[in-house]
Amino acid sequence: MHEVTVVGGGPTGLMLAGELALSGVDVVVLERRSTPELIGTRARGFHSRTIEILDQRGIVDRFLAEGQRAQVLSFGSTSLGAGSLPSRHPYTLGLGQSNVERLLLGWVEELGVPIRRGVAVTGLAQDETGVDVHLQDDEPLRTAYLVGADGGRSRVRTAAGIDFVGAEATRSHLIAEVSVTEDTPAGMRLDDVGIHAISPLEDGQTVGLVVTEQQLGPASEPTLQELSEALRAVYGTDFGVHAPTWISRFTDATRQAVSYRSGRVLLAGDAAHVHPPTGGQGIGLGVQDAVNLGWKLAQVVQGVSPDSLLDSYQAERHPATARVLKNVMTQAFLQRGDVRTEAVRDTFSDLLELDGPRAALAGLLSGLDVRHDLGEGHPLLGRRVPDLDLTAADGPRRVFELLHEARPVLLVLGDSDSLDITPWSDRVRRVDAQAVGTWELPVVGEVPAPAAVLVRPDGHVAWVGDGTATGLHDALTTWFGPPAQGTT
Ligand SMILES: Cc1cc2nc3c(=O)[nH]c(=O)nc-3n(C[C@H](O)[C@H](O)[C@H](O)COP(=O)(O)OP(=O)(O)OC[C@H]3O[C@@H](n4cnc5c(N)ncnc54)[C@H](O)[C@@H]3O)c2cc1C
Repeated sequence: MHEVTVVGGGPTGLMLAGELALSGVDVVVLERRSTPELIGTRARGFHSRTIEILDQRGIVDRFLAEGQRAQVLSFGSTSLGAGSLPSRHPYTLGLGQSNVERLLLGWVEELGVPIRRGVAVTGLAQDETGVDVHLQDDEPLRTAYLVGADGGRSRVRTAAGIDFVGAEATRSHLIAEVSVTEDTPAGMRLDDVGIHAISPLEDGQTVGLVVTEQQLGPASEPTLQELSEALRAVYGTDFGVHAPTWISRFTDATRQAVSYRSGRVLLAGDAAHVHPPTGGQGIGLGVQDAVNLGWKLAQVVQGVSPDSLLDSYQAERHPATARVLKNVMTQAFLQRGDVRTEAVRDTFSDLLELDGPRAALAGLLSGLDVRHDLGEGHPLLGRRVPDLDLTAADGPRRVFELLHEARPVLLVLGDSDSLDITPWSDRVRRVDAQAVGTWELPVVGEVPAPAAVLVRPDGHVAWVGDGTATGLHDALTTWFGPPAQGTT
């Protein structure tokens, strides 16, 4: 029996598998696709917080070497000025989803995680000690915990009976890579129906296109005939489309699982939330789910923390994602060219001339402003720790370097003899250092320098010291389990 089985080897499932493996969990990934190659176009990039998370694990250089850095963080057509975000990575990284998956897969394989391809999960049954996973070929598989990272149509979610609620689809778009016999107009077009765009692909022979359908299309796989009709309705011609390498349909449906957990079954990524691709949020939300869940699930599996720690996954990630989904819904709604929608869009553009609203949206859409509700206190509490330069006894460091192993860190930044964490020293690493520079948070601005910070493996601050140890042992127990016996 594996300790954890992850269903789905997309960006979320791979990131989660890496997190679990770093924590020493016996994890396997089951992936329906028989080869790693991804057919068709999906994500083309991701934003600052996702880049930071890859940096926290020491693998960001692989992604930076292949991607294009760009200032494309925007709300509709208004640039939000990502360049001014207080982050070491104040930009969006343009990188196709197939490359993202290939690089994550390389990392996960280095960590020794088995990936079983061509294995489709069809159902599950859980009891008090584990989950029986039903596979298409009837092979029996039992696991202590099961995570559905199996995309928007998640079989794990439906088999676990978890409701998926939100806004139903009102519009559908066809996306395709296809050959044409006529010249195509490059660029984007907005009309009363929606958004349409055509762009030549690298091979010079085919084009990539997105076209909004006149009516909401069926849930079935789209045909070349449907693509031809949709193009004629918008452009008056179908440009002689033929020989599609890929056609797919996506909608503006925006839904979220009411619960991210049912007993020993958890959901992450698109399996837990779907939304239109507008604004490129999908990979980031999935990666943030994975790093929030990974260390918690590891501690529960290893008996370090009680099972109730898993409830904090839902409590933290559900509201953080709900905020993003609302914004994405708004942006998708504004993708129409009629006069009323134009008026709303112009109103937003005017408001976004102001620094405050622009900074607030940049914080939200970059993923950098996430704050988990860990109670009142210092502004760092619950937020992601900034990646300051440090001077430590053994030389210069960066905060994120301390997180490469996905272990919690008590970073002591001053004279703090009172901070004794001996009962947790098997789990929590103490680092004494001086911080260089100011502590600046997105949206909030500069905050008072802390005397110490307890940083969770996902990079969020669990406790802030004021020079005393008040609250430290409670925070350690809440997040990293009770003190080791015989040490208090
Ligand atoms: C047109 C388009 C453009 C997009 N652009 C962007 C963008 O620019 N930036 C961005 O961040 N996001 C973008 N997205 C969203 C992004 O692609 C998704 O959010 C992301 O793929 C979610 O990752 P995931 O791992 O959660 O799910 P998925 O990528 O869907 O992975 C799920 C995996 O599970 C496997 N699977 C499914 N069912 C089973 C089963 N029963 N058993 C075993 N395996 C199974 C699938 O084969 C798949 O590999 C876009 C999406 C679309 C459609």
